[in-house]
Amino acid sequence: MAAYRVPRHPKVEAHARRQTRIARIVGLVLIWVLLGTLVLVAERVIPTQHLPWKALSVIDPVGAATMAKAARTGANPAACRAVLRQGGLFYANAPAPVAGDSCAIPDGLKLTSGMAPLMPADTVMTCKQALAVSIWERQVVQPVAFETLGQAVVGVEHFGAFACRRIYGREEGPLSQHASANALDVSGFRLADGSEISVERDWADPGPKGQFLRRIRDGGCRVFVTVLSPDYNAEHANHFHLDMGGWPLCA
Ligand SMILES: [Zn+2]
Repeated sequence: MAAYRVPRHPKVEAHARRQTRIARIVGLVLIWVLLGTLVLVAERVIPTQHLPWKALSVIDPVGAATMAKAARTGANPAACRAVLRQGGLFYANAPAPVAGDSCAIPDGLKLTSGMAPLMPADTVMTCKQALAVSIWERQVVQPVAFETLGQAVVGVEHFGAFACRRIYGREEGPLSQHASANALDVSGFRLADGSEISVERDWADPGPKGQFLRRIRDGGCRVFVTVLSPDYNAEHANHFHLDMGGWPLCA
């Protein structure tokens, strides 16, 4: 049986509705004021690299929001180039190479200076990948090189960025991130004293060279979407695969 409700005077009903509306509006205003205050406090006390809504900078250390910001900024050709320029990185825009129907570099460039040069140097990558590579070099590779090896890295050796192929070079399956130059296979490093560190030779080294490689792999996982090292499988025994596409994987 339905509960009996004492009918109220229409004026009382209207007053109650008005009170409820006012209470709702006051509640919403309070929530917005609280959120605004939280954002203001966060911006004062939390470093920029941890705040996803703040602009990306190559100069900031790597933080909790770096990967998301690099992916977002890198997807916008103009914004991506602006961040490179602000970070003191120079580049030359590249035309997309003709390499088959399914492969093309949508937003290609070559980094020309502002970081330890890629070896070989004539390497076209997507702007998004170049942005991630430069953040990794500046904020991970160089600081870790100083800490573990006491010197700078003066060259980043690699097997290439662009390759028109499917994953693992199979006949079938999805295209590799290399098919759009959204990846780089890093094989070693040239140091300021002229010596060399090789992923293949030094990965298992218990000393500073191995520590350097393992730490920059771990640091890379906070910048790139996918990082595959010799820990992942035998195909990666001699290089780090670093890319800004696909799904997050750090191995
Ligand atoms: Zn690769």
